[in-house]
Amino acid sequence: MPASSKTFSHNLSLNVYYLAQIIHKERIIFGSIQEDDQSLNPYLCSLKFGTMNRNIWLDQDSELPCPSCKEGVLKEAGQELKHQTLASLEENNYYRKGQEAPDEHFLVSEHVQCSRCKDWTTVTYKLSYDVRHVDEHGNELPEIEHVFYYPAPHIIDIPRSCPASVTDLLNKSFVLYWVDADSCGNKIRMAIETLMAELGVLPSNAKATLHQRIEEFEKGNPKVGAFLKAIKVLGNSGSHAPTLTKKDLLDAYELTEYSLHQLYKDQELFLTQMSREILQQKGPRP
Ligand SMILES: [Zn+2]
Repeated sequence: MPASSKTFSHNLSLNVYYLAQIIHKERIIFGSIQEDDQSLNPYLCSLKFGTMNRNIWLDQDSELPCPSCKEGVLKEAGQELKHQTLASLEENNYYRKGQEAPDEHFLVSEHVQCSRCKDWTTVTYKLSYDVRHVDEHGNELPEIEHVFYYPAPHIIDIPRSCPASVTDLLNKSFVLYWVDADSCGNKIRMAIETLMAELGVLPSNAKATLHQRIEEFEKGNPKVGAFLKAIKVLGNSGSHAPTLTKKDLLDAYELTEYSLHQLYKDQELFLTQMSREILQQKGPRP
């Protein structure tokens, strides 16, 4: 077995260790509300293994998942600050002297609340009323463009056993998704660089490029290696010129989510334990 493959298998076995650590920590955190829980299963059952829903991240009217509990959705709670922009006011004063009805542009900041855990998120968006955008009764319809979320909803499901250094960069990228697409693509690329370091790919060659590291990784895992290369290409595009769109970012995120779940197999660990308990009990789990 080549040295790099040994490193990969060593790191994959470390995943089990990481997950066990997390489970131990979470059991302590939730110990007070699950005092009679002697099994890991209630915790493991709460893990999500979902796939990304692209549509909600492109549709400005979608209800987004809560960044705290990830189970509820963010709802309006009447905590809104809304002002017409100076440019819009000046434009309207000009046009009202003429014949043409104006468009109006507002800047809105709002605290929205989770439907489940009731935690808060700050959101800022541009609100416009365009005379050409009306319903069947001629009423102007609002057009919304979200420009900021904090804390930002999680666009992909990151395995719990993924190293914190990678998770942190992806969490920061979720904020940038709304603010600056190219910066977001670059942050996702940084997450892949950090992933290579965490997996111990070419650790002795500090000058190795990300491309070289992915090529080395690809020898042991061609499928995920190809996905990581595609993410790197997208991140590079955003670094050299303002080119990335939200759709491009969702491509990078979907590749990232799948790759991480291939590397950090929380669900497989969960199913392994579940099947072991069923077989030990020779029936339903306790
Ligand atoms: Zn919540």
